[in-house]
Parts: sequence; C-alpha cells; structure tokens
Amino acid sequence: MARYTGPRCRHCRREGTKLFLKGDRCYTEKCAFERRSYAPGQHGRARTKLSDYGIRLREKQRVRRIYGVNEGQFHRYFVEADRQRGVTGHNLLRLLERRLDNVVYRLGFADSRNQARQLVRHGHFLVNGRKVDIPSFLVKVGDKIEVRERSRECPVIVQALEAVGRRGVPEWLELDADAKSGVVKSMPEREHITMPINEQFIVEFYSK
Ligand code: SF4
Repeated sequence: MARYTGPRCRHCRREGTKLFLKGDRCYTEKCAFERRSYAPGQHGRARTKLSDYGIRLREKQRVRRIYGVNEGQFHRYFVEADRQRGVTGHNLLRLLERRLDNVVYRLGFADSRNQARQLVRHGHFLVNGRKVDIPSFLVKVGDKIEVRERSRECPVIVQALEAVGRRGVPEWLELDADAKSGVVKSMPEREHITMPINEQFIVEFYSK
C-alpha cells in the first residue's frame, strides 16, 4: 500500500491531540492544531459521541499515525506482538519503537519520524558499520547506529542534533553527538514511551 503523503496536520486535528509530526513547526504558533483544534472537514466542529468501537479505532489510528506505519504493516506488528510472550500491547509498542526510523528520530538525527524515514531511505545511516536504508529495520540490543562519513555535515542532521535537547534521548539509547552515533543499550520498555497511549484499546480493537 502506498505511503500517506497528504497534509499531516489533519491527523493531529482528527485525533484531537498534537502528534508532533512536523518537527520544529509543532512547537511554534504555526501549529495547525493550536489554531484549529477541531476535526477537519465540514462537520469537524460538530459534537460527536464516540462509540466503544470508535474509541478503540481512534486509539489504533493515533498510534499508527505517530509512527507513520500503514494499516497492513501495523496489523502485522500486532500479529507478531500477539505471538510473542508477555503483554501484547507492550510488545506492540516495543516493536514500533525498535524501527530504525524511530531510533534515528529518538537519537535526534531527525526532527520528525517522517524526516527520519526519508534520511534512512536516502542511505545516510550505518547499522553496525553496514548501510541500512530500510525504515522498518528492527534494531536490537548492542546495535550501533551512526551517520555515514559523507553525511556528517548534512545540514538537516546537524540542525536536528542541535535541537535534540528539547526532546531528550530515551534511557534505552545512548547518543554520542560528537561522533554522530548512538547505541541501543537495552530494549525499550513501556515506561520509556511518554506519549499518552492506551495500548489496551488497540489490543481490544484487533481482538473484536
Ligand atoms: Fe500536529 Fe505538528 Fe501539525 Fe501541530 S504542526 S498540527 S503538532 S503535525
């Protein structure tokens, strides 16, 4: 299925919360959600009471949009999470966090997951010394992610690294900003994901 390339701010407005999909812009007054915090479309301002199904659907869509994953791929993550031992919802979030585009974003090499995805696709990163240009590549403990030698001065990466202090790097990753590299110290755990997500609703959505 093709990747969504339409306006991303609509996603925030539809989900009724800021999803931080556009990097710097999300922290300024230009943020579309700050200006129009109602759903897009003709009936966006109408009051609607969501059904139980609707609540679960919206939670699934929200998480899918945060990570920029299409429906089929998201469902495959759920199937894999359900197959693994432990709490399915936590397994699902762990799989999503381990994606290379997310790790590049979390380490501060990109301003947004969307930008991280593009940088990965353009081959700016090495994982354990080898070029990896697959955004869905899953990192594991001990992996070293670094910016390729020829991309070290790439303005997009340099600028993003300057702003990394605003977001901070999660505990499960370690950033060496001077070397423009990072290491996966441990598996991401539920408490490392600070976005307000109710993963149980997603499990219930797929288990209906
Ligand atoms: Fe969402 Fe960012 Fe657009 Fe604001 S600027 S609506 S947070 S994507």
